[in-house]
Amino acid sequence: MNFYILTLFPDMVSDGLHTSIIGRAVQNGLLSIETINIRDYTLDKHKKVDDYPYGGGAGMVMQAQPVYDAWKAVVDRIGYRPRTVYLTPQGGVFHQSQAKELALEKDLILLCGHYEGIDERVLEEIVTDYISIGDYVLTGGELAAMVMVDAISRMVPGVLTNAASGSTESLEGNLLEYPQYSRPEEWNGKKVPAILLSGDHAKVDAWRRSQSIERTALRRPDLLEKATLSQKEWESVKDLLN
Ligand code: SAM
Repeated sequence: MNFYILTLFPDMVSDGLHTSIIGRAVQNGLLSIETINIRDYTLDKHKKVDDYPYGGGAGMVMQAQPVYDAWKAVVDRIGYRPRTVYLTPQGGVFHQSQAKELALEKDLILLCGHYEGIDERVLEEIVTDYISIGDYVLTGGELAAMVMVDAISRMVPGVLTNAASGSTESLEGNLLEYPQYSRPEEWNGKKVPAILLSGDHAKVDAWRRSQSIERTALRRPDLLEKATLSQKEWESVKDLLN
């Protein structure tokens, strides 16, 4: 999968994404992550990319021309208009099922705003999806783009070396993951639950499922409402939900 990130701060995005699991996937050719510096496309002789908002108000607005030309350069190169996401607090909040869906795209353009945002006219022209990473306001779209690239990349086949982990993690089936433990068996007076040392896989699976359900009921009851549970499982958590 190929990501094209349109930004005024390419180093910030590039440095963060070329490390660890995502960096390895890039090296292995499973992903490509290209940053495009919007400033390189301005026609202004002082390399300016922003100006005052019409109608007054605080801050500066990124101008349409450099954003459009940066986007068009990618489109001309790959030969079609791929999905283009504008990272914005005005979008719907990004979630795991969207990460999975976007991982099916061959190419994806992510547009990062800065200052007070971007001239509406270019957004109307190029954006297919408006996505927020949460109900708070960041100074720029770069961290949001990095969050999206990370979450989407994990859903691209081969990126996670242990393929199972992508499908057993939190939010799968609208449940949070069960608690995890590693060596030693006892730490700080706390023991690993005995069932995990039993070697009985059926019992371990049953314990993990009940822990997932209980944890989701306690921490994310809103999610649990969308999960598929048996009658017995609903009974087991009904006291936690009231
Ligand atoms: N004036 C804009 C508004 O009220 O909607 C906010 C602009 S914000 C200071 C600057 C840029 O940060 C935005 O253009 C967007 O790209 C990015 N940004 C801020 N918060 C975000 C969020 N929650 N999710 C995704 N991107 C965000």
